[in-house]
Amino acid sequence: MKFEPVIGLEVHVQVKTKSKMFCGCPADTFGKEPNSATCPVCLGLPGALPVPNRTAVERTVLLAQALSCEIADFSQFERKNYFYPDLPKGFQISQYSGPIGVLGSLEGVKITRVHLEEDTGRLVHESSTTLVDFNRSGVPLIEIVTEPVFSDPASAKTFLKELRKLIVHLGVSDADMEKGSMRLEANVSLKKTGEKTLPPYKVELKNINSFGFTEKALKVEISRQEEILAKGGSVSQETRGFDEKRGTTFSQRTKEEAFDYRYFPEPDLPPLTSKSFKVSKKLETPKEIREKYLSLGLSKQYAEVLLLDKKLAEIFDGLLSSLEGKDAANIVINRRFGDPKKLGAEGILKALGKEEKKELLSEGKLLKAAEEVVLDNQAAVSDYASGKKAALQFLLGQLMKETKGQIDPKEGAKVLKDLLNA
Ligand SMILES: [Zn+2]
Repeated sequence: MKFEPVIGLEVHVQVKTKSKMFCGCPADTFGKEPNSATCPVCLGLPGALPVPNRTAVERTVLLAQALSCEIADFSQFERKNYFYPDLPKGFQISQYSGPIGVLGSLEGVKITRVHLEEDTGRLVHESSTTLVDFNRSGVPLIEIVTEPVFSDPASAKTFLKELRKLIVHLGVSDADMEKGSMRLEANVSLKKTGEKTLPPYKVELKNINSFGFTEKALKVEISRQEEILAKGGSVSQETRGFDEKRGTTFSQRTKEEAFDYRYFPEPDLPPLTSKSFKVSKKLETPKEIREKYLSLGLSKQYAEVLLLDKKLAEIFDGLLSSLEGKDAANIVINRRFGDPKKLGAEGILKALGKEEKKELLSEGKLLKAAEEVVLDNQAAVSDYASGKKAALQFLLGQLMKETKGQIDPKEGAKVLKDLLNA
């Protein structure tokens, strides 16, 4: 009997904001001394009241829109109750029945929901004891859930990479897995090949720290389930962790059902309505952005570099009114005038103007160089005469080489054309 994997993904990203989700503590606490970025709100002390972070809400809406989700007119925060040492209040403020976005898609993958919640604290295990660091407690966190639509680990990995590009490009999160600002989970089960209904169980995979491990963890978990099912056994519904060193998955806990969390509306926060956040115009997907870059003449690698660097992409866009796409990309990616992020588009254009003034050849010298190129490349000249327009590009290339690029290409092309038509 053959089996077919059924895979769904859950992605968490920390939202890039100055302060935490419900208090004024700094949200970027990476590398900070444990428990130094905390206050009564994010420590869950009695009487502390949460105030929602507008930027976090708006960025969640932005991402949900970019994922073509339906944006809720009415959305609310709910308490997810469970007991764990990293959760000082005994509940997490999350969204359950009223997520900000539902029913989206990216690259043909159906997105179930996009919602906003607060991150928990972090447990630090030391030899014989466990310590808690609440710096992360209350950092805004977006959860993106896909439908169980993947039938192989590789396509799940491809999707995750694409999703990360979108998140980074929108400036919603750094989505840096090494720093923990992007975390992956996968649900995986097996059905008999050709069967229409979903399997009666699912195993949740955690501790996946890279795209590569996603694929690996899914593969070993699929083989583990296959072995059990092939012997006629049944796979139990549980949460399993991935052990990078051993390359195996291990049981962490049997899964609580959703009702165990006793969700109910957060009484200290008003519901969000569409008036609470700005709804922007249609957003581009990574695929559309990539196509735009390619159509501007950028190489595939350059397009990917810009997709993964929001700020660089903005500077690149700022140069497009004055420069060809290819030239603009060369300047920002190869740092021709130094760090483009320090210079900004304006600074780059200024530097470029200075360079042009300094280096351009005089009209007479340009004409002389063009005449030499025409004399030395008679084959191309007759090609041009017989109607091959591409020959002009070739001659221009030779002229650029001859003059070490110290000419304006448009000017050079005009001089060559005049000579050829004379
Ligand atoms: Zn705080």
